[in-house]
Amino acid sequence: MFDTKKKLKYAVIKWAMSTQRVFRTHISNPTNYTVKCVETGCSAKVHGHVPKYNIHWVVTNVVPHNCVRKKPVGSSSKPDFNSHCATHVY
Ligand SMILES: [Zn+2]
Repeated sequence: MFDTKKKLKYAVIKWAMSTQRVFRTHISNPTNYTVKCVETGCSAKVHGHVPKYNIHWVVTNVVPHNCVRKKPVGSSSKPDFNSHCATHVY
């Protein structure tokens, strides 16, 4: 439960960052907020809304990711161990 939409959004952003995925806003209006994963074919989404006669936001639907996380850019260069093996002198 969240006091404001801002807090709900912040929680969604934090979750997106912790899972290293990117969400795009699907629905955003004064009583409904839905974000979906940007990856095509991934069903991940978070839906929150303000129930009738209530003032707080509740998250009613969280679908986990089924997309594969992309490797961060720049992590592909592995240390080249083979080049060091031939340098030993006995
Ligand atoms: Zn996803």
